[in-house]
Amino acid sequence: MKRPVVELSDCTRCGVCVEVCPEVFSMNESGFIAIADLESYPESEVDEAIKNCPEDCIYWQED
Ligand code: SF4
Repeated sequence: MKRPVVELSDCTRCGVCVEVCPEVFSMNESGFIAIADLESYPESEVDEAIKNCPEDCIYWQED
């Protein structure tokens, strides 16, 4: 399955992905980006988050 991944070491926690696609991306209690555990991911919204991430640290991973 295709799922989004955030390279946390490059993430500046700007919150853009959470704004663009809140059903997938959220900020956890420690302030890091968490990815929701979904059966399938909304491709166009995740692509939008990928496009808007200033650090280019979101990508798709195929299981
Ligand atoms: S948009 Fe990119 S840099 Fe910003 S919080 Fe999301 S993953 Fe991190």
